[in-house]
Amino acid sequence: ALHRRPIVAGNWKLNPSTRGEAITLLKLLAANFINHRNDNNNYGLASSTLPEVVIFPPLPYLSDAIQILAGSGIQVGAQTAGPNEKGAYTGEIAPSMLVSSGVSHILLGHSERRTLFGETNEYINMVLRKCLDIPSVKVILCIGESLSEYENGLLETVIDEQLRGCLANVDAKYLLSDRIILAYEPVWAIGTGLTATPSQAQYAHEVIRASLAKYYGSEEVASAVRIQYGGSVTPESMEALMSERDVDGALVGGASLNADSFTRIFDVA
Ligand code: PEP
Repeated sequence: ALHRRPIVAGNWKLNPSTRGEAITLLKLLAANFINHRNDNNNYGLASSTLPEVVIFPPLPYLSDAIQILAGSGIQVGAQTAGPNEKGAYTGEIAPSMLVSSGVSHILLGHSERRTLFGETNEYINMVLRKCLDIPSVKVILCIGESLSEYENGLLETVIDEQLRGCLANVDAKYLLSDRIILAYEPVWAIGTGLTATPSQAQYAHEVIRASLAKYYGSEEVASAVRIQYGGSVTPESMEALMSERDVDGALVGGASLNADSFTRIFDVA
């Protein structure tokens, strides 16, 4: 991960089924992260060596998450947002509504949003630019190739297309200032138990940095941006992934629903 601060995010997706279960999990995570911070202090480590940790619960649990995690050091994000600010858009959620409710991060372009809900690079770009208009909120932008694209040798092409489409008219300053974090999630590894090997992840992250360097004409942008790996990350696979130079953290689905597993994952980061 070189000089970049690790970032670990837990994407709860449409889980857990009840608010009570969510509250139990949030309380455990808050306590565990406070312990993690105290252990760090006891070893004389500065708090800047702590990973950034963000939880993405379903919308109805956001205010509980914000309350329960307040002061713990864990931040709260939203799993998606829409491109409109206000008006007659029944069911939609505006980025400004999330941010003014205490959300610090917004996840965009998750492969489930792309495949199940028809989100395109162009649509994701529209929402991303709305998010960037709001001072301080960070976006985790997900990209990654499908299994057939991978098997057909299209990884480089797909990553380049996704980056160009999602980052159209997005100024380099947003990457340089950490307002945009990327998550590389090969679709074939999400929820399948098939983690990319550390060297597969490292290679894809290098491809991402090379695309960014070309698109922005800047090596500085390419090396500043943090890139998480996502796809069946477990406490067991985390250490080897994090030892790769260009892997700066993890976006965790399944394992983020278990307090013990998720804690072991951020302990490693
Ligand atoms: C995800 O949803 O972003 C994800 C990586 O899921 P899982 O860890 O369950 O593969």
